[in-house]
Amino acid sequence: MLVIGCGIVGAAAAFELSKYDLKVGILERENDVALGATKANSAIIHGGYDPVPGSLMAKLNVRGSELCEEICEKLDVPYKRNGAMVVGFTEDDVQTLKGLMSRGISNGVKGVMLLDGDEARRREPGLAPEVTAALLVPTSAIVSPWEYCLALAETAMVNGAELFLRHGVENIERDGETWKVTAGGETFEAPFIVNAAGTYALKIHDMVAERKHTEKSKRGEYFLLDKAEGTRVGHTIFQCPNENGKGVLVTPTVHGNLLVGPNAQPVEWDDTANTTEGLNFVRSTATRSVKDIDFRKSIRNFAGIRATTDADDFIIEEAAPGFVDCCGICSPGLSAAPAIAEYVTDLLFKAGMQAETKEDFKMERRRIRFKELSDEEKEQLVREDPAYGRVICRCETITEGEIRDCFEAPIPPVSLDGVKRRAGTGMGRCQGGFCGPRISELFVEDFGKTVEEVLQDRDGSEMFTGRTKEVR
Ligand SMILES: Cc1cc2nc3c(=O)[nH]c(=O)nc-3n(C[C@H](O)[C@H](O)[C@H](O)COP(=O)(O)OP(=O)(O)OC[C@H]3O[C@@H](n4cnc5c(N)ncnc54)[C@H](O)[C@@H]3O)c2cc1C
Repeated sequence: MLVIGCGIVGAAAAFELSKYDLKVGILERENDVALGATKANSAIIHGGYDPVPGSLMAKLNVRGSELCEEICEKLDVPYKRNGAMVVGFTEDDVQTLKGLMSRGISNGVKGVMLLDGDEARRREPGLAPEVTAALLVPTSAIVSPWEYCLALAETAMVNGAELFLRHGVENIERDGETWKVTAGGETFEAPFIVNAAGTYALKIHDMVAERKHTEKSKRGEYFLLDKAEGTRVGHTIFQCPNENGKGVLVTPTVHGNLLVGPNAQPVEWDDTANTTEGLNFVRSTATRSVKDIDFRKSIRNFAGIRATTDADDFIIEEAAPGFVDCCGICSPGLSAAPAIAEYVTDLLFKAGMQAETKEDFKMERRRIRFKELSDEEKEQLVREDPAYGRVICRCETITEGEIRDCFEAPIPPVSLDGVKRRAGTGMGRCQGGFCGPRISELFVEDFGKTVEEVLQDRDGSEMFTGRTKEVR
């Protein structure tokens, strides 16, 4: 069994398949997991009020959101059910909100409720005075998307799956009853394949079957604001959705920051540049719903690409014998991922896969987060291992011990951003300016790299070209 791509969908598929006595291999073209849309999105586990009733998006969103809470609890992934409000300003918006409420009810979303402007502001004082109504969606949640992906992929590996990083799939051929896949200079053989290559999934599909759909990739740009702005709102604040998706939102993050975005700009599938035009649009649209956002406290901008297609729904089907496509997995793909994995597994069984459930499936994962411990726990930990007493990231209070822990995990980091996604270093105000050099030293001193091998993120993002003088 091969899974192509290790974003949230590939990781969830591998996690689900590792519950069975199967040999599972994951082929990922990058040097780490979660480097596609999974690391650059709004990080919302949507309630499910938006997708058209009866669509795959609707069914898998609601089920995925139910599964996500339990998975995050068991695998120690930051998650918070903070609830969402979709706000309206005009009579037309109120009609849209009523439509969304009945969609939500049809989709099985629990607790949706229409509020007038005053009640909405009573529950969320940061809302603009112009807001006249809001749809409350109590089941909406926020999550750390890359930690969610890592947790699923690591759990799959603990249960026997193998991850092949830097193995971009280049060719797939049918050979009798099996598929031959060329990736990273090697050939893999498998009777079943899950295509979870994100914005690249239609190109992978082209290797095995005729194309039925066209790509309509859209970029979404964001502001991430400092924690000083993190309590500006408690709920995730959406505006009414339009043809470009769920619109610009303002939301707290599970890490305590404020996230504002995205726009929706048609682009080529890998163009994640930020633009002045896009960011200006995000800023002016967001301040319609929440007035006083202090954009001077922005600490980072980023962009992600939605794998949208002309199907306007997820395309999850057997495209060729034993070959299951997960194409067009745009929003709510993060929310739906564990349900997509169940659906894919079901399709594989229907396609002839035979497997028994493993009795010894392990679903447990714990991380030490030093700053969240009590004083007594901190003292005890530092006594046992002094590395937990050395704070490396001052903004986020992350210790050397926590960085070491992530090097011992099933998928160790290979870059400074890889450490950031696991331990949380560089997530704060200085964005790694202070801790980056010290973590680079740890890569060299403790993990056997040369300084020229230290990466910021993807392959090709070397931080140093050599030494100007020997420092002793
Ligand atoms: C701006 C934006 C906002 C969003 N907000 C939300 C939200 O709030 N809530 C929500 O539920 N969803 C949201 N989404 C959607 C969600 O992020 C995606 O649906 C989800 O991340 C898709 O996951 P994936 O695994 O399919 O794709 P990806 O995360 O892109 O992963 C695909 C993987 O395949 C790999 N790959 C590509 N080509 C190859 C190859 N040839 N060989 C091997 N590997 C390959 C890539 O390197 C990548 O790791 C948003 C998306 C965007 C862009």
